[in-house]
Amino acid sequence: MAPSHVLKCCQKVFSWIPVVFIALVVGWSYYAYVVELCIFTIRNTGEKVVYLVIFHLSFIMFVWSYWKTIFSKPANPSKEFCLPKADKEQYEREERPEAQQEILKRVAQNLPLYTRTGTGAVRYCDRCQVIKPDRCHHCSACDMCVLKMDHHCPWYVVNNCVGFSNYKFFVLFLAYSLLYCLFVAATVLQYFIKFWANELPDSHAKFHVLFLFFVAAMFFISILSLFSYHCWLVGKNRSTIEAFRGPVFRNGPDRNGFSLGFSKNLKEVFGDEKKFWLLPVYTRQVLGDGSTFPTRLISLDPEQPTIDVQSESTKSGADGQSCATRPLSESQNRLLGNDQRFTEDGLDADHLKLGSKDKVTVSMESES
Ligand SMILES: [Zn+2]
Ligand SMILES: [Zn+2]
Repeated sequence: MAPSHVLKCCQKVFSWIPVVFIALVVGWSYYAYVVELCIFTIRNTGEKVVYLVIFHLSFIMFVWSYWKTIFSKPANPSKEFCLPKADKEQYEREERPEAQQEILKRVAQNLPLYTRTGTGAVRYCDRCQVIKPDRCHHCSACDMCVLKMDHHCPWYVVNNCVGFSNYKFFVLFLAYSLLYCLFVAATVLQYFIKFWANELPDSHAKFHVLFLFFVAAMFFISILSLFSYHCWLVGKNRSTIEAFRGPVFRNGPDRNGFSLGFSKNLKEVFGDEKKFWLLPVYTRQVLGDGSTFPTRLISLDPEQPTIDVQSESTKSGADGQSCATRPLSESQNRLLGNDQRFTEDGLDADHLKLGSKDKVTVSMESES
């Protein structure tokens, strides 16, 4: 086995350690709450039942959304965004970046693209050999292009890329983990106080109660700021990457380019049907295919045709086809045909990691 392969395997195994650690903490919290607190410590039967019912509801929602966040595979660009064989061969033969851009521009004319690099070039991933759809970025940790990439979450208990396929689950996971911690901390508080007043029976249960309060309060505080930040992002319809650097449209960078107003922004993440908003389920029909997104550019630009992009993308998701099969009108494609010179210093926040305790680090990669 090649050393690099062994190293990669080791990295993969080690990357699951935080997830296993969190799973153990969650497993212990379940035992401590149900057995040590509800069964051994609480005397009142009514209180026991109410606590157990609410606890299990929040526990199920928390574990369900956590599971979906971890195990949803990141979505990749569809085949339409790959260069056709002849163009690809020509692209590889060509050494001049300007000529390569001409090839990309020609292919991109038939694709539903609104954004480009900071220098006006078509966003192309050399590694995956694919034209990047709007809001798509290459994740160097996953070594693939991820649709509507938000961030790669290596240590913050998720060990997965957060993007189009699981962003809703991620936000719900944060919300339900907050709810879970809040409920545990609030109901344990009175027994925690009794612990200090020496009113609890002298058994090992009281130490579980003590730690339960500390752990729940600590997690609640550490998740709160991250959740608040993502609520703000959802309200603005921005990904974490776009919050750092706005997507570049025809009129230049615009952080609000995909913002359609608060309620529509909510629907963009949580879906059209309110009854599914709080459930970690995902329907393609509702959210489109992740390759195209409605942009406020349409309504701002009088030259743009008044097409209903929302229903266009929804339709494309419903029939499983990408919008790529529908060429944009010429005025939309002028974005792609502008004469800005392509230079190689175009940068893209392609590897963005959210570390523990909300520490955000962005490493930039050259985009050619
Ligand atoms: Zn890529
Ligand atoms: Zn990733």
